[in-house]
Amino acid sequence: MIIVLKPDSTPEQLEALIARVKELGLRYHLSQGEQRTIVGIIGEEDKLQIQPLGAMPGVEQVLPILKPFKLASRQMHPSDTVVTVKAGGTGPTVRLGGGYIAMIAGPCAVEGEEILAEIARAVKASGASILRGGAFKPRTSPYSFQGMGEPGLKILRDVGHALGMPVVTEVMDPRQVPLVERYADMFQIGARNMQNFDLLREVGQCRKPVLLKRGMAASVKDLLLSAEYVLSEGNEQVILCERGVRTFEDSTRNMLDMSAVPNAQGQSHLPIIVDPSHATGRPDLIPAMARASVAAGADGVHVEVHCAPEKAMSDGAQALRPPQFDALMQSLKAIAAVVGKTFN
Ligand code: PEP
Ligand code: MN
Repeated sequence: MIIVLKPDSTPEQLEALIARVKELGLRYHLSQGEQRTIVGIIGEEDKLQIQPLGAMPGVEQVLPILKPFKLASRQMHPSDTVVTVKAGGTGPTVRLGGGYIAMIAGPCAVEGEEILAEIARAVKASGASILRGGAFKPRTSPYSFQGMGEPGLKILRDVGHALGMPVVTEVMDPRQVPLVERYADMFQIGARNMQNFDLLREVGQCRKPVLLKRGMAASVKDLLLSAEYVLSEGNEQVILCERGVRTFEDSTRNMLDMSAVPNAQGQSHLPIIVDPSHATGRPDLIPAMARASVAAGADGVHVEVHCAPEKAMSDGAQALRPPQFDALMQSLKAIAAVVGKTFN
């Protein structure tokens, strides 16, 4: 349920309303825009049905939120959320959403300091603003490379921060959250864990942004409900990520649902980015799909890059080489200008 205040409502009226909401044992979320203040009510809405909150001074309207997700809904928060991230909390600010686009790039997995530094320098020179790299890898086979663990996290942080780039890395288990939080500027929740609700709650307790990937069999509604888990714990910095879903098509790794971008943006204020690397699994398709993502209004793109894909320890077959990545970045900047967005 949302309570819309009148444009001329006073701070005292807002205070009185909040006091009443608390008295009813409900939680609230305040959204103060330039024109309007909206109070979102979280909790058992039936408690409110009989409460004549609409009659309180300063209240214009009391509306039910018809979507199953509340905090993630655009009704609750009409303006775009802009997620900000800085390397180590002090570097230059990178923004996603509200007209800002960010390129997240790097290898699938952190494999060593030298190779990561080479990749990071290349992607940064081409215009990437956030460095990615997995230290805990969700592999289909238990015999495949599982990631370097904590030494990998340290390498990622050191390499990224030396270049002033915030770093994002996957966390797979609630027990890993404190460790990953020490090194990463942004958590990644992988497609396989989109509905690991304990993990979502755990990163929701943190105050670092969360890159939430769409599960391979999840609807856009499911994705937004997973975001709701993080938001409901108090972490408002969630970035959605479309990375393709499983279908009968077997010539691509997954099937990229480009409509998820405007679809999610219509229903939610959260930024959404696209990962054409995991969506297609094919370097010959990634540039076109990255360009389509920016044209479709994505707030960012996520691409895997490796200097020697033939030697990569995971996902080498889908990695772009730095010159391919550089050419892609130049075309993305041109498209961003056409759609009126700014690259970080
Ligand atoms: C990844 O980003 O390396 C990854 C494993 O992605 P996804 O969870 O989308 O499969
Ligand atoms: Mn990968």
